[in-house]
Amino acid sequence: MSFEYYYITLMSLVIFVVALLIGLIMNNRYYRVIKESLTQAREAESKGPLAISGEVEVLMCPRCGYSKTISYRLGDYVGKVVDDKCPNDDERLIVHAIYSSRPAEQSS
Ligand SMILES: [Zn+2]
Repeated sequence: MSFEYYYITLMSLVIFVVALLIGLIMNNRYYRVIKESLTQAREAESKGPLAISGEVEVLMCPRCGYSKTISYRLGDYVGKVVDDKCPNDDERLIVHAIYSSRPAEQSS
């Protein structure tokens, strides 16, 4: 009788520890998933204004070909040398293209 009681207590303890470990592992995994989804949401937020404003422009470095897309700024035109600098060689970027980006295009 006392042995059975001891056995049941030991088994429940083992199950409890295993459950705790699984919980910790799952928690860690969920934490990572939540963190990833949060960073993705933040990225989507930072991209948001581009999609809303519609007009975007592509800045390109004439030296190394680095390019980045920013939202259209009033007065910018294709070929204009802007104050933005290339992160690779500090060359001033030129406006390579201006186009309108509709939110519908982002569904792809
Ligand atoms: Zn460059």
